[in-house]
Amino acid sequence: MSDLPPLREVIARHGLSALKALGQNFLLDEQLLDRIARVPGPLDGAAVFEVGPGPGGLTRALLRAGAEVVAVEHDPRCLPALAELAGWAPGRLRVIAGDALRIDGAAALGRPGHVVANLPYNVGTALLVGWLTLADWPPWWRSLTLMFQKEVADRIVARPDTDAYGRLAVLAQWRAQARIALPVHRSAFTPPPKVMSAVVHIVPAEAPPGVSVRRIEALTAAAFGQRRKMLRQSLKGVPGALDALAALGIDPTRRAETVTVEEFVALARALHA
Ligand code: SAM
Repeated sequence: MSDLPPLREVIARHGLSALKALGQNFLLDEQLLDRIARVPGPLDGAAVFEVGPGPGGLTRALLRAGAEVVAVEHDPRCLPALAELAGWAPGRLRVIAGDALRIDGAAALGRPGHVVANLPYNVGTALLVGWLTLADWPPWWRSLTLMFQKEVADRIVARPDTDAYGRLAVLAQWRAQARIALPVHRSAFTPPPKVMSAVVHIVPAEAPPGVSVRRIEALTAAAFGQRRKMLRQSLKGVPGALDALAALGIDPTRRAETVTVEEFVALARALHA
């Protein structure tokens, strides 16, 4: 694969001018793309579900790392470039044309694997929440390596008592580990977006707490839906929550942003009891 044409040439030859509506900001620096492809760990022979391959920069890096890639792309203009790339790595790249929000990654991949994506941030956040709220745990994905706006990345890895801490942090951290793997400067993209980005790496916890995700979702939606309110007010509508606060000795005058991930898990468990 060392003699692939430069990405700029592929983009020009296939007329892939970046479309704002599809959140297209392409990465062309192959060294940076190789660094992103290393975030999940060794990929030789591993299955990778890539969302939004575009002209295929990140896809190339994944293929160079030895991965077997299933990629979902919404923009039909990119398909010929991706078909060309598939020819460079026979049998290791399957492209699905469509909207990733409507495609079941587990079924598309067919075996457990890693998810890697550089997506428009609204699509990325919606997919992330879907992957984090699966009923089955450990999930079909072994890790998530996702590019986000820096501000969203900060919310995913946030700790309590910070402005960034909220529902996304709890969903990402209560049965998984989330970290910022790589800050990415806006100038790395073509065209450059207005804000900085970061690659987030999430892996499922080995011993997830035995609590239903629906309880965690209900608690965090209520608590952070009114984040400035005291818990005794914001959790009023969650059956059993006020009793659970009392049983656990959690001060009901506290606000959601002070409640740790472990305390949310304990509350969810107490609701079960
Ligand atoms: N992966 C390429 C890279 O790193 O240069 C392209 C990244 S660009 C930020 C986002 C890509 O996601 C575009 O190719 C866009 O067409 C695609 N995309 C946007 N919405 C999508 C969706 N709902 N499903 C699948 N792909 C989508």
